[in-house]
Amino acid sequence: MNAPIRYTLLATAPHTHRFLSRCTVAEPAADGQCFVLPAWIPGSYLIREFAKNVIAFTACDGDGAPVAVTKTGKDGWRCAPCRGPLSVELEVHALDLSVRTAWLDTTRAYANGTALFPRLPDRADAPCELEVVLPQGETYAGWRVATGLTALATDARGAGLYAAADYDELVDCPIEIGDWQHARFTACGVPHEIVIAGRCTVDLDRLARDLERVCSAQIRLFGEPAPFERYLFLVMAVGDGYGGLEHRNSTSLLCARDDLPQPGAAELTDGYRTFLGLCSHEYFHAWNVKRIRPAAFTPYDYQRENYTRLLWAFEGITSYYDDLMLRRSGLIDEAAWLQLLGETATRVWRGPGRHRQSVAESSFDAWTKFYRPDADTPNAVVSYYAKGALVALALDLTLRRLSRGTRSLDDLMRALWQRYGRLGLGVPEDGIESLAAELAGQPLADFFAACVHGTGDLPLAELLAGHGLVFRLRPAEGATDKGGRAGSGTGGRVDAGLRTTLAGEELRVAHVLDGGPAQAAGLAAGDVLVALDGLRVQPRGFERQLGRYAPGARVELLGFRRDELMRFPLELAAAPADTVWITPDPQADAEALQRRQAWLGETGVSPG
Ligand SMILES: [Zn+2]
Repeated sequence: MNAPIRYTLLATAPHTHRFLSRCTVAEPAADGQCFVLPAWIPGSYLIREFAKNVIAFTACDGDGAPVAVTKTGKDGWRCAPCRGPLSVELEVHALDLSVRTAWLDTTRAYANGTALFPRLPDRADAPCELEVVLPQGETYAGWRVATGLTALATDARGAGLYAAADYDELVDCPIEIGDWQHARFTACGVPHEIVIAGRCTVDLDRLARDLERVCSAQIRLFGEPAPFERYLFLVMAVGDGYGGLEHRNSTSLLCARDDLPQPGAAELTDGYRTFLGLCSHEYFHAWNVKRIRPAAFTPYDYQRENYTRLLWAFEGITSYYDDLMLRRSGLIDEAAWLQLLGETATRVWRGPGRHRQSVAESSFDAWTKFYRPDADTPNAVVSYYAKGALVALALDLTLRRLSRGTRSLDDLMRALWQRYGRLGLGVPEDGIESLAAELAGQPLADFFAACVHGTGDLPLAELLAGHGLVFRLRPAEGATDKGGRAGSGTGGRVDAGLRTTLAGEELRVAHVLDGGPAQAAGLAAGDVLVALDGLRVQPRGFERQLGRYAPGARVELLGFRRDELMRFPLELAAAPADTVWITPDPQADAEALQRRQAWLGETGVSPG
């Protein structure tokens, strides 16, 4: 028999920041039932060892008598053989504001199942039920439950019983509980809801209107009907924060409250555009990575690293489309999109690590490198998000060129959906290349060897020129220069080959870049800079101090390593041209303009 595994989430003592989580098994394994708590949450590729937050794990049998529990590893428990139903109870500390774990206090309860619900390794496919229990009392009278799980028997506030087809679905549906704001809209006939927790004011009508455009454009890109019956945006607004995690019919987002659209304001602020881009990104994942997913994630192994060289496609292609869908749905204009693209390219061009690690390697090593950055990260690591987005751009423009405009990355995404995602099949490690080659009508081995497995710079200038765009490079104009636009011409001329960070009133070396003057002089991350040519280093004005010199100038930096004063003779280099901006070419011919319109126009989403 396959009786449902019954979970209960008790948010009944918010002031303790501890959830109680119960799991009841009608017929426990005869030789003793095992339970494990996941070590990671899909979408965030780092071993997080959620079991570290478990304070107590107790068990009782069908008569309510205690059952002996043996810990079998850092995240595993075995109960002594007993008569069912076996019920285990976990007390779990929950005070992580991120979208990856859980939170419980007197303002809000938030839960990801991977942090709270133990898995039965021998019953992975069993259906699950979840009962959500709210705290009592006046303080919590306004609390309601929002989740992508299917309600079976719930009251007006959403307390009660929910169903999940299996453990995967149970832990893929985060739960937001509190006195939140709420809006609804329909996209391509599918009901969507926005739930916003945290103190904030927001123009819910405008947000719903804008998201409807983005969601409709994405559903049409992959082809109707949408693969979910409803979709939920769970938003937590804070003073300062940013993050998102994708799920099959919902997403959890963390944003700065100032990034939400304000009542009475009509302009598209940078913050609101960033928030819309985040929503667009996680929504695109409902297809790309949650359904079109690597074979390595099919099924997920919740206890250890799941290795794939394809994260560049799942995160990079998604990053390419997030802002592109804002453009295609008319929320931003072409100039704004080109600026965002230039900023992404700038992040890539500024990292020497792009010549050391390919996006395929970065994908594979995400667990130990990209997710665990340190002082050497800029030299050793390339972002499979940022460079992955540029690879997606290059692949899109290559497919358009080879097919004379009859095929594009849109077709590749639709083919991946039809061939793999819709059928629940994992994408093999060579699946994207072979499908792209099929669409191109010729092998793309050279493209993939260079762009995905290689470490050279991408041929963006040439590809963009075919669409009437000019790819330009210039030196950075200070730490606040994110690229994406023309410089003022007043930029710094010299480069010391280091990046600094303010630590209190100290200027500390954060990164020493490979091959630069600082490395040659022996500087190290962590050094505190105190003097430049006999003058005190101004922690907030160091760039200006350096800017007084010309390339080739020899200077002396004084700094502390630990508590030892050190001298560093430095020969300043010319500032590298590592800042990208992309502009329309006024000389472009009509065909190039037509190609650009087909790609970036508001009608760019062709029916699938
Ligand atoms: Zn993502």
